[in-house]
Amino acid sequence: MKKNTKKNVVKPDERRIAALVKELLSELGEDPEREGLVKTPARVAKSLVYLTRGYRQDIKAVVNNAKFESGTNHMVILKGIELYSMCEHHMLPFYGQCSIGYISQGKVLGVSKLARIVDMFARRLQIQERMTEEIANAVMEETGAEGVGVIIKAKHLCMMMRGVEKQNSEMTTSAVLGTFRTDEKVRQEFLSLI
Ligand code: ZN
Repeated sequence: MKKNTKKNVVKPDERRIAALVKELLSELGEDPEREGLVKTPARVAKSLVYLTRGYRQDIKAVVNNAKFESGTNHMVILKGIELYSMCEHHMLPFYGQCSIGYISQGKVLGVSKLARIVDMFARRLQIQERMTEEIANAVMEETGAEGVGVIIKAKHLCMMMRGVEKQNSEMTTSAVLGTFRTDEKVRQEFLSLI
């Protein structure tokens, strides 16, 4: 592994990952030299680096100063943000939707930035509960909001295609901070709007 020059972010070595994937294929009883698999290790390496790119992103760069003054302190809601992540227990995908609400204290984030924040935390090995909290904390810190609420609904392939094999189960997690936690009315408004 090479250290990236900026911020000590570890840049994965795709050739090393490809070699490991090739070994993995052999161990699984496959012939990594057969035609259909020859390029697979390199493809998997590239794909894994992409799917974990959130480790190498920085919240300040993601938000990139897209904060705007806003006189109002109404609730801002963005719902249905698609997310694709991988569970840290099985390295299998989980996917679903995230809804974010916050009440600004004069500062709002560009809408696309909320989606980018979700992506930054989703593109890592995750558990849904932690990811939900990380997104809420990041929105709180970046906006200085008086309160933030995040709800994620997701389906986990590790549950659907192995283990208990429950194809239709969906997990819901929520994180509420500030007034979303302390004020029942605020929380209810958020829940009724998403
Ligand atoms: Zn899992």
